Amino acid sequence: MKKAYELEEAVRFEGLGLHSGVETTLEVRGRGDGGEGIVFVRGDKRVEARADRVELRPLCTMIRGDDGTEFYTVEHVMSSLFMMGIVSAEVECAGPEVPILDGSARGFVEGLRRAKKREVGDVGWIDVKERVEVKSEDGGSWVVCDPVEGERMELLFELEYDTPYIGHQSLALVWGEGGDDVVDRVWDARTFCLLEDLERVRAMGLGKGGSLENAVVIGADGVLNAGGFRGEDECVRHKMMDALGDLWTLGKYVKGRIHFHKSGHGLNNMLARRLMGLEGGE
Ligand SMILES: [Zn+2]
Repeated sequence: MKKAYELEEAVRFEGLGLHSGVETTLEVRGRGDGGEGIVFVRGDKRVEARADRVELRPLCTMIRGDDGTEFYTVEHVMSSLFMMGIVSAEVECAGPEVPILDGSARGFVEGLRRAKKREVGDVGWIDVKERVEVKSEDGGSWVVCDPVEGERMELLFELEYDTPYIGHQSLALVWGEGGDDVVDRVWDARTFCLLEDLERVRAMGLGKGGSLENAVVIGADGVLNAGGFRGEDECVRHKMMDALGDLWTLGKYVKGRIHFHKSGHGLNNMLARRLMGLEGGE
């Protein structure tokens, strides 16, 4: 069993939006309305961070309300809430984009860890009875989720990039019964980007707040950041952290063996929607 928590005090974060380049603040606190789940708030606008609220955007996870209110780059704070077992929270964001901090989940986890919390029972588990599979149009990337015994998520992430500075990386972790210290393994892994893709990203009007302070940039001759990677498997550790955030839109953990093969936010959300369907939520 994994304990579920609610925040008893507010935690504040501030920093740049990775894509907007706008300085912003984020306050995470208990929900004032007694509701369940994570809800993003701006003024009187509220959007529930549920799998069926996620819309595809390049390079980040975005949630959108019926009235068009949007919040994007929500994945790292969502991942931190997953790892801390925080099942209900109000996340007030001053603008549409969540601050990127250092590009990893570390700042969010540190803040949430320090905050006063109270236990509110156990986190629920989605029971996977048969294989659930999603894949990209060309079949090159996919996610497969199979049933497992016990309350555990067996996670395997694999990625492959042409550049030798990333290459093939894989990471296997267990969350739940008999599990690993997942937080320690993934919390400091930063967003990364290939230098050759940066121009394309900028041309899309994205990545305006991106710098070597909040992203790892990999060029033809290696990593541009002075300190290099935080360990040789930082990229796959980051992708795993992203995936946990994308799955927290379920508000429950998943009793399953999940194999992510070159997956990203889009496929992660397709899986979450299918799993939400198992719960009768869709
Ligand atoms: Zn990320």
